[in-house]
Amino acid sequence: MDSKPNYGLYGLGTMGAALALNIAEKGYDLAVCNRTASVVDEFHASSGDLATRIVPTHDLAAFVSAMAAPRNIVLMVPAGDAVDKTMEQLRPFLDADDLIIDAGNANFGDTNRRGDAAQAAGEMFLGIGVSGGEEGARHGPSIMGGGNRVAWNRVSDMLEAIAADYEGTPCAACMGEGGSGHYVKMVHNGIEYADMQMIAEVYGIMRDGLAMTPLEISKVFSQWNEGRLQSYLIEISASVAEATDPETGKAMLDIITDSAGQKGTGRWTAIEALMRASPVTAIDAAVAARNLSSRRDERKAGEELFGAAPQAIDRGAVALEALEAALLAGKIACYAQGFAMLSTASDDYGWSLPLPDIAKVWRAGCIIRSSLLDDMAQALDDDAHRNLMFAPSFAQMMKDSHKGLRKVVAQAALAGHAAPALSAALSYFDAMRTARGTANMIQAQRDFFGAHGFERLDREGQGFHGPWGTG
Ligand code: NAP
Repeated sequence: MDSKPNYGLYGLGTMGAALALNIAEKGYDLAVCNRTASVVDEFHASSGDLATRIVPTHDLAAFVSAMAAPRNIVLMVPAGDAVDKTMEQLRPFLDADDLIIDAGNANFGDTNRRGDAAQAAGEMFLGIGVSGGEEGARHGPSIMGGGNRVAWNRVSDMLEAIAADYEGTPCAACMGEGGSGHYVKMVHNGIEYADMQMIAEVYGIMRDGLAMTPLEISKVFSQWNEGRLQSYLIEISASVAEATDPETGKAMLDIITDSAGQKGTGRWTAIEALMRASPVTAIDAAVAARNLSSRRDERKAGEELFGAAPQAIDRGAVALEALEAALLAGKIACYAQGFAMLSTASDDYGWSLPLPDIAKVWRAGCIIRSSLLDDMAQALDDDAHRNLMFAPSFAQMMKDSHKGLRKVVAQAALAGHAAPALSAALSYFDAMRTARGTANMIQAQRDFFGAHGFERLDREGQGFHGPWGTG
């Protein structure tokens, strides 16, 4: 290394270490540092040929002075206080045009706050969402940036170089000002929750309804991965269903506890969607399903009280093709909800979010990557603010597949299989294709007890009241 690098990365945990190696591999020298100093040496010692591009440092003063100004410092520490504290500790060592890039899973509100504070203080700050797990961070994640455009332009070459590549296009883009990058990452994670939940529901129907073995289920997922459902999540579902436990020889899926953890980004999406009045019911259902999954003792008590719920389902009633169609329709409805939420947020926050670019950035590198995303990018290019289900190509897919979804949800209900995300997706689809809904009843009730007034179908104007008095 002839001169000091302009790049630095702080936080050599799972993601930070992988990202640092990726940055070095793409030809960018960088300084690294970590709260626990010994981790730096272990990391450097294990970085092989890339070690020559990496300057190990053991405290923040040495970290900053190992870089040449203007510095670009990536933080990869847990979201929340750790980011604020690290920024606070770094600040005394920084020059005016040094840039801090928070690459963790920050709440977009925190990123807005940090961006505003940086702007007021004349500092540079970016919040970027990074998806793809450890493997993605090492070899090409999907990167959703947000913040000051000048700051983005300064590091965009590096971010595009380390990002996943989709047919020659890097999966990295600036989504807009402030916390917009972390907002897009949050919705990405919400969709990820729903995608995973719907796959789990279909897995459950195959396991408990159709009495299929994990190996048989794996083969079905593998086959689906060759068709319209081609995606990373279906691919890994096939792999996990196929795997056996080396200790017991049993299928891995049969020894893993049925309670799922979460770090909160799905819940943030659900809460934020409520605030935007832009329903993401499949995501809500997925978050709730994870919550219920952790109540194992209660579920065991329920089974003792009521008898086990999931009953066998006749293959004639639900063929594997119906399950495949159900997943496709459910997935389209879920993405329609996610993009509708992004469209609303774009207006509410004045971000001008580039919806087609969001679909493009998700085509490779991230956990929800799938072949459908390229079609989604095209549909959003045609009309970014139309419900995705109404775009001609997706409307056709919904017409072809919603019957499968309906059959699966109906049979699941009859046979006692909980399928909350698929059911939510179906209800959303049905609500969005019903011109005459039932909220007239709600309006009448509201007027009855609260004199809230209503509009009439047969007259212009507002504030009409019924003949029921004051209630
Ligand atoms: P991790 O493996 O637990 O590593 C955390 C890193 O942050 C370690 O270097 C740790 O240092 C440091 N750290 C923890 N608390 C700190 C504090 N209070 N002050 C300073 N440094 C602190 O976490 P990770 O999985 O790499 O995640 C890092 C960020 O990426 C998080 O925001 C996470 O949500 C996000 N993310 C993770 C994934 C994933 O798949 N894991 C995917 C996308 C985004 P020590 O060595 O001293 O403990």
